[in-house]
Amino acid sequence: MSWGLANLLHAIQQSGCPLCRLQREAERRYLDNLLWENINDPATREQWAAGLGFCDRHAWQLQRLEARRYGDGLGNAILYEDLLQRVIPSLEALAHRSARPPSSFRHRLIRSFPHFLSPATDPNGVPGLQGRQRCRVCRLGEDAARAYAEWLVEGLTEAEVRRRYEASDGLCLPHLRMALVCARDRAPDRFAWLASDTAQRLRRLLGNLREYIRKHDWNYRHEPMSPEERRSWVRAVAFFVGEVKSDGALDDRSG
Ligand SMILES: [Zn+2]
Ligand SMILES: [Zn+2]
Repeated sequence: MSWGLANLLHAIQQSGCPLCRLQREAERRYLDNLLWENINDPATREQWAAGLGFCDRHAWQLQRLEARRYGDGLGNAILYEDLLQRVIPSLEALAHRSARPPSSFRHRLIRSFPHFLSPATDPNGVPGLQGRQRCRVCRLGEDAARAYAEWLVEGLTEAEVRRRYEASDGLCLPHLRMALVCARDRAPDRFAWLASDTAQRLRRLLGNLREYIRKHDWNYRHEPMSPEERRSWVRAVAFFVGEVKSDGALDDRSG
């Protein structure tokens, strides 16, 4: 069995979408390694600069990780020193440019079309104040999830993998789309199998959700709820957007 399929089967045995779990693990591993040994690695720093840091979720995850693990912030301090050195000259250049009086033509244009020309109306459109690339950790996590989606599509040829997948919580919608794209061209049988399996899961979820709603009615509120009914509304959220991405069981093993 391949390393990827073994990891996937391990994740399938746990609760929630297995690809959400594996994606979070890949992201977490990147942040761990960054703090442990890659702060001064030139290629890592290039990625950091290209994104002007990370997205808000991963930036705060890195901050919490260092605070909890090392009780300190030296790694973050070094990374943000780098960013500040890049952002300050950009701001100074903008300040210098804006200090020049506008030409009469530009002045007339701004008066006529203020939303069209004013840089303040497009906060992402200011040169030097935005990353050239998306967050490195987001891209790496998505690449890992896509690789596991391929392993899943490959693995579903085996009855044992299908059986274990059926017993799991299944894929969330964003990861289902990923797996269906993998299967679309080269594995039409598994494309159909995944679609059919998900439809059956969602029919069960819909039944539980309807019972959850019905048992909120005064006339039926004495009827006990099953565990599946009780968690159905949370599972519905998880299906449409993926598992919770803040600190939690999927995200944070250090506690
Ligand atoms: Zn997922
Ligand atoms: Zn990110």
